[in-house]
Amino acid sequence: MARKIAIVGLGKIARDQHVPSIEKNPDFELAATVSRNARLDGIDSYETLGEMLAARPDIDCVALCTPPQVRRQYAVEAIEADRHVLLEKPPGATVAEVQSLVALAGRHAVTLFATWHSRYAQGVEPARKWLADKTIEAAEIVWREDVRRWHPGQDWIWSPGGMGVFDPGINALSILTHILPAPVHVTAASLDIPSNRQTPIAARIDFLAATGHPVTADFDWRQQGPQTWDITVRTTSGTLHLSAGGATLTIDGNEHLAAPDTEYDGIYTHFAHLLAAGESAVDLSPLQLVADAFMLGNIRQVEEFHD
Ligand code: NAP
Repeated sequence: MARKIAIVGLGKIARDQHVPSIEKNPDFELAATVSRNARLDGIDSYETLGEMLAARPDIDCVALCTPPQVRRQYAVEAIEADRHVLLEKPPGATVAEVQSLVALAGRHAVTLFATWHSRYAQGVEPARKWLADKTIEAAEIVWREDVRRWHPGQDWIWSPGGMGVFDPGINALSILTHILPAPVHVTAASLDIPSNRQTPIAARIDFLAATGHPVTADFDWRQQGPQTWDITVRTTSGTLHLSAGGATLTIDGNEHLAAPDTEYDGIYTHFAHLLAAGESAVDLSPLQLVADAFMLGNIRQVEEFHD
């Protein structure tokens, strides 16, 4: 029987991805939305999460699709009401607040799932498998997009906890930490912050892998024209290239895979498996790298940004 799920925060990602993927998945039934000012035709709507939790004991899962700064408070409310929780990325505004959610979910014996949608892009799992036994020499991330196109009017991304260009950049880091056989850590970072904003519009980061090879990341929100979401990994056995955010995989220039976007379908399939198994999945490594880039970041003030 399908589990009833409610979406909290009816913004861009909820409408573009969560609603269609839930509607496609026979393991779930979209039973309600929680929104301060929006609703979906034909779906029960509540203004606050507390109201929904009290009125609908039949809904045992919630998907939190709000900005990260308010995710923890919603998650605590849902877990304390013994509901399973799916967290949009990034799972929170700080590492420690998500660790406290893991402990809380454990005490309530509910599933907590910190999603990283880019890990479900079609080229990512084959890339991980190919790299597993290779000797890596270097890796490079180039993630450049136009913030005006993807985040129009979203003030939260420019506020503390909104992470600025790391909001898309963390998607690249979620792929990197999944496909590389060894962990990486940040060794240096530079952050370009518009003088009228609180978060970076561009960032460059150097990492070192535990196996000794370097990794660089170039995140920039000022890209006009074609958008770039690429990861290149050079190994002693050839060069692997993921592009289009992980949807396209080539090895030594030969196309191995170019598939349509099914990232959010993959998220809900995985959530159903976790629920059936009574397990949680919370990998904080991409969030930790972002936190460390902020800790080491050499800050440069750049020109004002206006939407
Ligand atoms: P958004 O369009 O701004 O929507 C966020 C929604 O959260 C708002 O519409 C609002 O819904 C709700 N909300 C609750 N408390 C809020 C608060 N204090 N401030 C602002 N909104 C609040 O943002 P989004 O693009 O959907 O992003 C939401 C999350 O999804 C982010 O963590 C983002 O990283 C992630 N994400 C976004 C994309 C993308 O392409 N946009 C892709 C993947 C992941 P109500 O008005 O209904 O309450």
